[in-house]
Amino acid sequence: MSVPSELYEALQKGDRVALARSITLVESRRPEDLRHKQELIELCSARKSTSIRIGISGLPGAGKSTFIEQLGLYLLTEGRRVAVLAVDPSSDRSGGSILGDKTRMELLSTKENAYIRPSPSSGILGGVAEMTREAIIVCEAAGYDVVVVETVGVGQSEFGVHAMTDFFLLLAISGAGDVLQGIKRGIMEMTDAVIVNKADGDRVDAARNTASDIRAALHILAGGSDTRDIPVLTISSLSQEGFDSVWDMILSQIDDARLTGSFDDRRSEQMKSWFESAVQNILRTRLENDENLREVRTQLIEEIEKGTLHPVAGANTYVDAITRENLD
Ligand code: GDP
Repeated sequence: MSVPSELYEALQKGDRVALARSITLVESRRPEDLRHKQELIELCSARKSTSIRIGISGLPGAGKSTFIEQLGLYLLTEGRRVAVLAVDPSSDRSGGSILGDKTRMELLSTKENAYIRPSPSSGILGGVAEMTREAIIVCEAAGYDVVVVETVGVGQSEFGVHAMTDFFLLLAISGAGDVLQGIKRGIMEMTDAVIVNKADGDRVDAARNTASDIRAALHILAGGSDTRDIPVLTISSLSQEGFDSVWDMILSQIDDARLTGSFDDRRSEQMKSWFESAVQNILRTRLENDENLREVRTQLIEEIEKGTLHPVAGANTYVDAITRENLD
């Protein structure tokens, strides 16, 4: 069952083995898989999706897994099917993982209508965000109508996740200075809602104060105008209480976005940025798998290391070699 059309058929029937295989296929970097991968993605994309893609970010320890698990469990009671994917920026660089190593969302992962993708296999350098985008499409074809994409507030990963989701939510906690950081790093401009987590026990007041501070900061950031009213809520993820309000808030924001057309605009932005990142990814895969070019590259790098070649000259020679290779 590895032919794309068979995989797709099985996917649509909710076959979990087919889902796992499809995800493995879209994550594959083997040149011989590229055609099948493209075919599967095209099949999955042909189906008009009514799903909601939610990006969730927050610093390590903010409670993302706990929050997503509760939200997911709540959504199951609403008859939704929930997929959770992760973009782990650390795996791009080191092959290690910030998000993936701990056991996550144990209860949610046992539920029939939930799917939690393990982090993309370690050792894959680059392109993790790209694979996640493709995994979203596969999950939607498998009938998951809420796809949550989680990331940590590190590096560029949030920008990548924003570019593949309909709604971007920042999970903060009191006293962590997350929001100030978010403002500095330009995250706030793309945030659709902020949720202050851990509003329980003796942290209730602190969480509420943090929420007020965030509202004030957002107001200032918006130049005093309320044109972009970003909801700021508090929650405790220790129980499911309050998750109905969280979901209502998300749905009403999405309904508004649908009415104003910004939902569709954002989806077409997602397609554009998908194209851009797919170009990079396909180029990288093809270059990595071209033996001649690999050799040219190794030689150039050796010369650069020895100091006998300037990096820019080397890069030009390399690009010339790529062009020649493809013209011949
Ligand atoms: P992540 O790194 O952002 O995914 O955070 P986790 O979900 O792993 O949570 C980090 C720690 O905070 C864990 O010990 C959780 O049990 C705890 N935690 C998460 N949410 C809450 C909450 O709402 N209230 C309290 N008191 N603890 C929480």
